[in-house]
Amino acid sequence: MNLLQEKVKEDGVVIDEKILKVDGFLNHQIDADLMWEIGQTFYQQFKDEEITKILTIEASGIAPAIMVAKRFGVPCLFAKKAKPSTLTQGAYSTDIHSFTKNKTSHVMISEEFLNANDRVLIIDDFLANGDASLGLNELVQQANATTVGVGIVIEKAFQAGRQKLNEAGLKVSSLCEVASLAGNKVTLVGEA
Ligand code: 5GP
Repeated sequence: MNLLQEKVKEDGVVIDEKILKVDGFLNHQIDADLMWEIGQTFYQQFKDEEITKILTIEASGIAPAIMVAKRFGVPCLFAKKAKPSTLTQGAYSTDIHSFTKNKTSHVMISEEFLNANDRVLIIDDFLANGDASLGLNELVQQANATTVGVGIVIEKAFQAGRQKLNEAGLKVSSLCEVASLAGNKVTLVGEA
């Protein structure tokens, strides 16, 4: 994923030592070609896993997730952060703490879209402390479905997310690993 790494290095804006802003290509304005590449890459990694559904959380997970779903030819399902009036049937729900907003949201997905036969690939834009992915995995468990893996666009490797997901038995694949945001600079894992 050289294109992604280039974008992170060139267009990423360091907000502080823990938060990277990527509004130019992922979180506000979206680079569709890059999203397509992300879809291709996760497809190559998980194509033998009989994935039936891509699961993410609104809002910024949706752009990469829909391209992954398109490549697999399966639906993209996203957890909603507020109960819509249109949600008339039962729902799976849990609380997820947002790292960037520092607030906890009660998130939900309708029971009609996830069941015990589903093999789910969780996709999110960032991995920080793992709360979003763990919460999504909790929704999968409530449906007695199976989480096959977690695909992350940008992992902040200096935070605890990967360790927590691995401890929960989840396989994690990330496309760009940030080693540090210290000194107002993005340093990727493996960079000199
Ligand atoms: P976690 O739940 O792993 O702690 O954090 C992941 C979630 O928080 C993602 O859904 C993402 O939206 C948001 N997030 C975490 N770190 C960052 C960051 O450095 N920049 C941006 N833009 N979002 C982040």
